Amino acid sequence: MSFLAKNYNRKKISFKYGKGSYLYSKDNKKYLDFVQGIAVNSLGHANPLLVKTIKDQSKKLWHVSNAFQIPEGEKLAKKLCERTFADYVMFQNSGAEATEAAIKVARKYFYSIGKPKKNRILCIKNSFHGRTLAAIFASGSKKMTEGFGPKIPGFDHIDFKDSKPRFPNIRKRINKNTAAIMVETILGEGGIKPIPDKCLKYLRKICNEKKILLILDEVQCGIGRSGNFFAFEGSKVKPDIVPIAKGIGGGFPIGAVLMNKKVAIGMTPGSHGSTFGGNPLAMSVGSKVMDVISKKNFLNNVKKLSKYFHFRLSKIKEAYPHIIKQVRGKGLLIGIQLFEDQTKFIKKLMDNKLLTIRAAENVVRILPPLNVKKSEIDLALKIINKVCSEYK
Ligand SMILES: *Cc1c(COP(=O)(O)O)cnc(C)c1O
Repeated sequence: MSFLAKNYNRKKISFKYGKGSYLYSKDNKKYLDFVQGIAVNSLGHANPLLVKTIKDQSKKLWHVSNAFQIPEGEKLAKKLCERTFADYVMFQNSGAEATEAAIKVARKYFYSIGKPKKNRILCIKNSFHGRTLAAIFASGSKKMTEGFGPKIPGFDHIDFKDSKPRFPNIRKRINKNTAAIMVETILGEGGIKPIPDKCLKYLRKICNEKKILLILDEVQCGIGRSGNFFAFEGSKVKPDIVPIAKGIGGGFPIGAVLMNKKVAIGMTPGSHGSTFGGNPLAMSVGSKVMDVISKKNFLNNVKKLSKYFHFRLSKIKEAYPHIIKQVRGKGLLIGIQLFEDQTKFIKKLMDNKLLTIRAAENVVRILPPLNVKKSEIDLALKIINKVCSEYK
């Protein structure tokens, strides 16, 4: 008998503890965890540095109100701004809060410059920005919005196609009331589909032309996951607003909105807030995650290992062209797209002690910690190969 609401279809397994890339189940089995809380535990389970940080900070100070100065938050914000396009950071607790705050920043900017009617946000149909009311209507996915009406107004949608042009009719979808285009740099839940650099450049060009803002949702693909600190970095595109969450806390809930100076003018005292957002405990952990990811060679190593992982997966695809349709993604955000529903495949991987998670379009999503070892990737490859060889 469970007293939890039934909004998840949970697997019948629970874990006693985790260490690095591994999880240990209640029935004493060892699993290679390539879910890592869906790209959350960027440095693996129970990372000693993070354990020490949280222990030390928990003896000093957990929470104070944002009515006071919070030096730990100042420190993390500085690190994020020095590393990225951003001039300012606003802390939240989750991805959905961060994407909604990003929308608020965009709208308030236009309000502040005397254009209050410029408030519509153009998003990709069936994308993912979180599960709060505005975020589900931003995604425009029937599955997520059904039963949760009335519809939250203010969102328009474009398709993102596998074929060219990737964004058909996008100019027609922008009108005088459009404030921003908001897209995931790599569609995560939508099936691990990177928006090609060229298309990101095209979006930036349109935004400049129409004098609207570009919001890139890096909640899943950011913080080193793609091999770059942000997935858009390879394109040289500079967004105006970027919501982040998942990986930045290394397992501790943190969300944030990064923004440039121009758009930050709307964020005046009292305009936005969060009781928990930016608390000292969260901030000290986030700061430590930043230190580790910013170390020389950390991201080079992610790039090197992911290149190897993608190459070896492409060989498995070649060997089983009737099972695997495509291997896609960037860095350690990897999707294996199957020809048929992926449920059975994920189950077989799990039977062989490899944990993965689904995404749309029959995709098996693979999310190792960013500090994964080559030997652990080899073990995963061995299991994936075995499951393919026995697959019927
Ligand atoms: C997970 C995710 C969110 C929502 O994050 P939550 O912390 O679950 O609210 C938003 N955008 C993207 C791209 C995500 O992957």
